[in-house]
Amino acid sequence: RKDVPEIIDNRGADDGAVRLTHPDRILWPRQKLTKQDLADYWERAAVFALPFIANRPLALVRTPDGIDGEQFFQKKISRGFPKQILDLELEGEQLIAIDGLDGFQALAQMSAIELHPWGSSIEDISAPDVIVMDLDPDAGLDFEDVIQAARDLRDALKSVGLTAFCKTTGGKGLHVVVPFQPELGWDEVKAFARSIATAFATSDPKRFTDTLAKKARKGRIFIDYLRNGRGATAVAPFSPRARPGATIAMPLTWTQVKPGLDPADYTIQLSEKQLRAGAAAWKEYFDVQKKQRITAKMQRAFKSI
Ligand code: ATP
Ligand code: MN
Ligand code: MN
Repeated sequence: RKDVPEIIDNRGADDGAVRLTHPDRILWPRQKLTKQDLADYWERAAVFALPFIANRPLALVRTPDGIDGEQFFQKKISRGFPKQILDLELEGEQLIAIDGLDGFQALAQMSAIELHPWGSSIEDISAPDVIVMDLDPDAGLDFEDVIQAARDLRDALKSVGLTAFCKTTGGKGLHVVVPFQPELGWDEVKAFARSIATAFATSDPKRFTDTLAKKARKGRIFIDYLRNGRGATAVAPFSPRARPGATIAMPLTWTQVKPGLDPADYTIQLSEKQLRAGAAAWKEYFDVQKKQRITAKMQRAFKSI
């Protein structure tokens, strides 16, 4: 993945609705899914995804020539972006955001398949309101091991009073997500996420590591807490992936997080009804976010394990 933006002249679309150019361009070759299919997906999914994505700094994975072509990981607007994609400057940083449903159509027009928000809103980019614990299994582990890890993480968080949510990533792992009031800084929140990863790696070193290096992963799950620093991102709920299978990151109920769960079942071809079930799985998310706080006691709890 490169940081070089591709130039598309889309200024003609700046007069109202987003115009989709090259709708037949193939993005996912194996399924023959096109840019039009991506736009159609967002027609169904945008209303469910918007609460998790609107008004947050976004990194995009763009694949103008489809997922087998070059992939651009892009954090700043470049030429030709439709006006529905906001070009913000906050705390001296240039950031991308969307604030409405047509933002998704604009992103599809830019072949921005993956949407990766920061852990904070643009209202205060110095105060995160969510932790994403990213479970990254070593190649060769069974997905059932990841499922059990997510459940163990949920239980540990519950034991200190935190409610967590789970989503597929559309890839190999799972994300355990903890929303809370935006009142701490990045360093504190990341340190808390790290202490959880370290507690798991220390108490069960056969199953877990808190070390990024691939060699530490041998047969283990890396509890990737690094998604939680300033400027770090994790794939958004409902975001499609630029990966084989045209998978999406799907919000789940904890009842779904059990053997038999297959992330490949959740793709951009899901119906509106199936997507609505994803939204329903996380329906408590924003209530929990309003109530939940990371206290000093919780921070001490994981440090002492
Ligand atoms: P999986 O379940 O397969 O691990 P994932 O989305 O968790 O899927 P990771 O590789 O664990 O994928 O995490 C990659 C994360 O790193 C992405 O969520 C993204 O937000 C972030 N990231 C940072 N820089 C880049 C980059 N240059 N290219 C891709 N992702 C990047
Ligand atoms: Mn991951
Ligand atoms: Mn990771």
